[in-house]
Amino acid sequence: MDRIQDIYRPVEQRCCDFKEVERELSFAELGEQARRCMDCGIPFCHGNGCPLQNVIPEINTAVARGEWKLAWEILSSTSSFPEFTSRVCPALCEGSCTGGLHGQPVMVRQLEKAVVDTAFRNGYVQAAKPVRNGLTVAVVGSGPAGLALADDLNRYGFDVTVYEAHHRPGGLLRYGIPDFKLAKSAIDRRVKLMEEAGVRFVCDTRVGHDVSASYIAGRVDALALAFGTPEARNLPLPGRELGGVNFALEFLQGQNRVNAGELSATPVSAAGKHVVVIGGGDTGSDCVGTAIRQHAATILQLEIMPKPPVERSESTPWPLWPYMLRTSSSHREGGERRWNVSTKRFIGQGGRVCGVEVCDVEWTLSPEGKPLKFTEVPGSTRVIDTELVLLAMGFTGVDPAGLAADLGLAVDQRRRLASDPARRIYVCGDTANGASLVVRAIADGKKTARRIYEDLTGGAK
Ligand SMILES: Cc1cc2nc3c(=O)[nH]c(=O)nc-3n(C[C@H](O)[C@H](O)[C@H](O)COP(=O)(O)OP(=O)(O)OC[C@H]3O[C@@H](n4cnc5c(N)ncnc54)[C@H](O)[C@@H]3O)c2cc1C
Repeated sequence: MDRIQDIYRPVEQRCCDFKEVERELSFAELGEQARRCMDCGIPFCHGNGCPLQNVIPEINTAVARGEWKLAWEILSSTSSFPEFTSRVCPALCEGSCTGGLHGQPVMVRQLEKAVVDTAFRNGYVQAAKPVRNGLTVAVVGSGPAGLALADDLNRYGFDVTVYEAHHRPGGLLRYGIPDFKLAKSAIDRRVKLMEEAGVRFVCDTRVGHDVSASYIAGRVDALALAFGTPEARNLPLPGRELGGVNFALEFLQGQNRVNAGELSATPVSAAGKHVVVIGGGDTGSDCVGTAIRQHAATILQLEIMPKPPVERSESTPWPLWPYMLRTSSSHREGGERRWNVSTKRFIGQGGRVCGVEVCDVEWTLSPEGKPLKFTEVPGSTRVIDTELVLLAMGFTGVDPAGLAADLGLAVDQRRRLASDPARRIYVCGDTANGASLVVRAIADGKKTARRIYEDLTGGAK
């Protein structure tokens, strides 16, 4: 039995809407795929691959036997929000799947999705009923890290209040990741369960602006910071100030807010435009998928790094997460990708961008194929016509002048914050580790909740 390749709705159908791109697999297909996991001798997926340490072979055994409730019980014993990870995780577990050593890995992520979706459909997922311990915690930020931390602390019996600058909880799950990857109804459903279990959400409240962090810290037993890495990496080249040169998140967030009814029109629109996306990563790919749905005329995604190999690179042998070419569902829908391209300046007319000057670059590689340094290819400078440039080059970390300064916390060289347990201030997610992944944010939220529980209650170490 091979791994199923066709997991998406047809392109011509999915490009007309913002609904999730993946199709539902049948129980028969899921059972067959779960049985592929039974061929494994030594599973590296959960120890090596999954930051949550999901017990993947046991979950898949239950699925192969049709024991969906048991599969859910095993999955939910380690994972707070499998409905999020099963939709957006790059599936680090699949990179270390033993089946992937000589063939195609087991489709762990889709099996997880089926387990959690079946659990919700069958009513297995219920609000927690905690016994209160009389201690209070405030959480700043309601992304996956803040949500996981709040959920676990609430289950431990703490009285938890989450402060969120945005109108609704979810962080980048809601205001970054497009709806075609993660339907926001999944976040609403989870937040409702958490509220029923006693977690309080205070939205439209920017801590450090609407209320000071030190004021909150003085009124709770512990303060947890999970406010992400709000600053996007800029490209401060000549012409950066032109209209039509925008951060990817401004573009993506606008579309998500229109879909949610929070805005009537997208503040940054790709409709009818020649779009250039700078940055070849996942955020760039999300821009491609969103621009396609907004009916852009053309979409070109530029990446300064070389094109990764089609197969796993020797620099990342199994069971490491493979460095290799990744083609997302959005890339399969349209647009063009080019590698080894560096941007030199933005060209304008009447205050708006009309072109990007670029050149080709050549990389020197290490013996394992790792890119080391680049030089410009002489005579390759040219101008690409465009009316919208989206900067998707990652995030720079925490602003040292913001909440960090408010609370007297030092920002390290990579602009991350560290916990100060002596003052009962804890930090988790991207704020602590730099921009990363949803699954790592959730894992860190859970780990930090455990630490707060142990520090404040003297509970089992
Ligand atoms: C466009 C995009 C797509 C991505 N796609 C994926 C993907 O497919 N898979 C994946 O695994 N990862 C993806 N990521 C990365 C992932 O979303 C992040 O790593 C993850 O959300 C980090 O979680 P977090 O809780 O630490 O922070 P965030 O999700 O950033 O949440 C932080 C929250 O804190 C709030 N906040 C900030 N400052 C304050 C304040 N002063 N007061 C109150 N609230 C505040 C913010 O409004 C936000 O809601 C993507 C990231 C982006 C930008």
